[in-house]
Amino acid sequence: MIEEENENLTPEQDETIPAAPTEGAATEDSEEETDAQLTFEDFKLNKQLLNAISELGYEKPTPVQQQTIPLALAGHDVMGIAQTGTGKTAAYVLPLLMKVKYAQGKHPRALILAPTRELVLQIEENIQKFSAYLDLRTVGIYGGVGPKSQIERIQAGIDILVATPGRLMDIYRKGEVILKELKTLVLDEADKMMDMGFMPQIRQILEIIPRKRQNLLFSATMHERVHILSEEFLEFPMVVEVTPQATPVETVSQVLYQVPNLRTKIALLEYLFKDKETFNRVMIFTRSKTNADNVSSFLDRKGEGGVRVVHGNKGQNTRINAVEAFRDGEVRYLVATDVAARGIDITDVSHVINFDVPIIYEDYVHRIGRTGRAEKTGAAITFANEAELYHIHRIEKLIKMQIPQELLPEEVQVYNTPFDEQQEIARELDNQKRRENPEFKGAFHEKKAHPKRENIGKGAKVRDAKKAGWKKTKSGGASKSKRGKR
Ligand code: AMP
Repeated sequence: MIEEENENLTPEQDETIPAAPTEGAATEDSEEETDAQLTFEDFKLNKQLLNAISELGYEKPTPVQQQTIPLALAGHDVMGIAQTGTGKTAAYVLPLLMKVKYAQGKHPRALILAPTRELVLQIEENIQKFSAYLDLRTVGIYGGVGPKSQIERIQAGIDILVATPGRLMDIYRKGEVILKELKTLVLDEADKMMDMGFMPQIRQILEIIPRKRQNLLFSATMHERVHILSEEFLEFPMVVEVTPQATPVETVSQVLYQVPNLRTKIALLEYLFKDKETFNRVMIFTRSKTNADNVSSFLDRKGEGGVRVVHGNKGQNTRINAVEAFRDGEVRYLVATDVAARGIDITDVSHVINFDVPIIYEDYVHRIGRTGRAEKTGAAITFANEAELYHIHRIEKLIKMQIPQELLPEEVQVYNTPFDEQQEIARELDNQKRRENPEFKGAFHEKKAHPKRENIGKGAKVRDAKKAGWKKTKSGGASKSKRGKR
C-alpha cells in the first residue's frame, strides 16, 4: 500500500534547507584532502572484512566512506547526507559489522530501517557480501509477502535485522521479535521513508527500542523534516555531507531533447537504441505505470536484447526477478517508475533515459545516480515535451546547472501531436501558469483539433501519430495500438 506510486505528488522544493553547520561537519575541502590518502586498511577493520572488501574489488573508500567509517567506529551518531551511488551502504555496514562481530544470542543487536523491499534486499545482500568471512545472521523483512518465513528466520536467532518500518511493526505487535538487545539503529533513505508516510511507524519503533544506542541516519537530501527527525533521534550527531544537496554525480553526462509527444519520444528511443554497443545496459524511467508498460511493450516488440519492467502493480517476485535479470545482463533494458526503482542498486548502467521528466525534482538526481556509479562514467538523456520544460527549469535550479540541450537528430521521425495529447499539454501549461500566478485566467479552451507542426530540429519529418497507429490511453498518453502486433 505504502510502496505504491503516487502519481499526483507535487514537488516540495520550499522545504529544502541547507544542512545545519555542526562542529563535526565535514567540508568538501576536507573530503578532497582525505581522498588521496585513506585506504580501507587505515580504518583498522578486521582481516575478515578487509578480505571481503578486496574480493569485491573495492580499491579505496569513497568520500562518504572516508568520512563516515571513522566516526561510526568511534561510536558517534552520524547524519550522512549522501545519495545512492556514493557507497553509503558500505559506509554504515562496515562499522556495523565491526561492532556486531559474530553471532551471539537470539535477538537482533542492530536494526536497519529502509523504505522499500528492494532496498531491504539490497542492504541484506551487501551485508552478506561484506560478512562472507564472518559468522553472522542477517534477516531482511518487508511487506508484500506473507510474514511466516520471515518470522521463522527471526526466531532461529539473528544478529542484524533489515526491515521496512511497517512490516517490522506488524511482526513486533505479534510478539515475534524482541528488540531490547539493539545497540545500533540505522535509518537509510530517511527522506524517502518520510515521503512514503512511514513517520508514525518510525516514531513507534523509536519508543520501543533501547534508548542507549548508536544512531546512523542517511538521507539523500536535507529536507526540513529530516532535520527535525535528526534532532529528535540523534545525539550530538556528526554531519557528513559528501555531495552538496541534490547535486548529480559528476561522472554523469547529461543531455536534454525537446520532444513534442509520446510517439516521437518512442521514435527517439528507437533511433538511439540502434547503437547497441553504446546503449548496452539502459534504465528507462517513466512517470506513470501506463507509460512504463507502453515503453516496455514497444521494446519487447522490437525484441532487441530483452526488456523487463518494474512498477507498483508488479508483484514482489516479478520485481525482484526483473532487477536480477537486468543486473546479470540477461536483458538490455529495465523500464521503471520512480517508486519501484528507488534504492535499486545496479552498477554498470550505460545510460539512464528519462522518458518522462520527474515531477518530484529530486527523483531526477536519484534517477541519473543509477549511472556513473562509484568510479564509472555514465550518461543521462532526458526527453521533455513543452509542458515538461517547466519542470526542467526547476530541476536545473535544484541541481544548480543547465542541462545541455541537443536538437533531435534528423533521422528521428517527428509525429504530430494527437489532439488529445495536445489538449492535455495545453491544460498542463495553463495549470503551471496558474501555479505561478493565481490571477491567471487560463488560455486553455477545448480547442478544435488541427494538426500543429512542431518546431523541432532542422529537417525533421512530421507524421501524424494517429496514422501511425497510436491511440490514447487512460493516463492520457498515446500508446501503439496492439491490433495486429506481436
Ligand atoms: P551505494 O551508494 O551504497 O548504493 O553504492 C553504490 C555502488 O558502489 C554499489 O554497487 C557498491 O558496490 C559500489 N561501491 C561502494 N563502495 C565502493 C568502493 N569503495 N569502491 C568501489 N565501488 C564501491
